[in-house]
Amino acid sequence: MTAPIVIVGAGLAAYNLAREWRKLDAETELVIVARDAADFYSKPMLSNALASKKTAATLVMKSAAKMAEELKATILANTEVVAINTVARTVTLAAGEVLAYRDLVLALGADPVRLPLLGDGADDVLSVNDLGDYARFSERLDGAKRMVILGGGLIGCEFANDLLAREILPTVIDPAATPLSRLLPPQAGALLAEKLTEAGVEFRCGDSAQRVERVGAGYDVVLDNGVRVAADLVLSAVGLRPRTALADAAGLAVARGIVVAASLQASAPHVYALGDCAEVAGLNLPFVMPIMQQARALAVTLAGTATPVRYPAMPVLVKTPSCPTVVAPPLTGEGEWCIEAVEGGLIARCIAADGSLLGFALLGVATKERQALLAQLPAWLA
Ligand SMILES: Cc1cc2nc3c(=O)[nH]c(=O)nc-3n(C[C@H](O)[C@H](O)[C@H](O)COP(=O)(O)OP(=O)(O)OC[C@H]3O[C@@H](n4cnc5c(N)ncnc54)[C@H](O)[C@@H]3O)c2cc1C
Repeated sequence: MTAPIVIVGAGLAAYNLAREWRKLDAETELVIVARDAADFYSKPMLSNALASKKTAATLVMKSAAKMAEELKATILANTEVVAINTVARTVTLAAGEVLAYRDLVLALGADPVRLPLLGDGADDVLSVNDLGDYARFSERLDGAKRMVILGGGLIGCEFANDLLAREILPTVIDPAATPLSRLLPPQAGALLAEKLTEAGVEFRCGDSAQRVERVGAGYDVVLDNGVRVAADLVLSAVGLRPRTALADAAGLAVARGIVVAASLQASAPHVYALGDCAEVAGLNLPFVMPIMQQARALAVTLAGTATPVRYPAMPVLVKTPSCPTVVAPPLTGEGEWCIEAVEGGLIARCIAADGSLLGFALLGVATKERQALLAQLPAWLA
């Protein structure tokens, strides 16, 4: 009997792959192993769930049991994979059981980065990277009036905007001069900060948190300049690190993520990776659109026709309703940002030396230019 396809993980990468693959192969046995509850949900909704009045329970779009039925899969929820043997083609589960695989797909996601903070409140700092985190986070919101958010990137800014729906005043602390500094040129970041500030968010850009101290039922976040910012809760959103430990221990090549070729194959035969854990042809792109492209290509490969992933240019929508923002960042550091202020918004174009468009950022009413600019961008991976 042939061993099944085993997917480790039950996030958007795993479930999109399973769906795409089932369109091509309705029969081969499929096993999905996940250390969480394996319920299907859309992770991007975690950072705008307050405005839409969603709870952890109502964010679940389909239970693991329903997914198992639809995908004709065996889903082992609350089950951790602790080891991979790429020679014997097996994975070992935490309880000691060993599963054989025909092909193994790692869709392990990424862990939130934790800052090395001092102080007796440092361990209380929350992060929200899955449904369980969101449940713990939302339980703590009752009665909260002020929250410090560490990190003014995409996730920090989205949570800041969302907290306003619960009348919680966020203070965003980021060492960079403007928010979203890895995605937006400074002028665009400044406009985003201005609009979010008007809506009620406080920014402390150019500052870093050093300590979190308990004060009564709340906290003081102590900055490197000695300033203390009081808060009822502290949320960390300083970035994500691909989960590579399992692959590394199995002898697979890892760099920033699990190293895979454009075919999504890892450094051992019959092992593949996609989603936030993967570094595909040198790129780790922890966003939904790349995952959809990866899932479609890998499904065809698993069904028997080796198919490399291709990426069109893929814009990221920043879910900050106080300042709608779309960004297609340039993939390399080359190019120069040219800024055009328009009534009610801003257009930033990243232009190469030969005049071609490498990336763009659109804010406010300018977001309507998205399709026109997208059509001018080169593919990210052709
Ligand atoms: C708050 C937030 C907002 C976001 N907003 C956007 C957005 O607006 N647009 C966008 O494009 N992207 C957004 N993203 C990013 C996007 O959500 C992710 O790229 C995507 O959900 C990652 O899916 P994944 O399947 O790779 O990982 P995950 O969803 O993290 O899934 C990983 C799975 O692996 C399992 N797992 C891990 N280790 C093991 C193990 N050893 N054994 C068994 N199971 C294991 C986990 O339990 C989990 O089921 C956002 C992310 C966050 C956190």
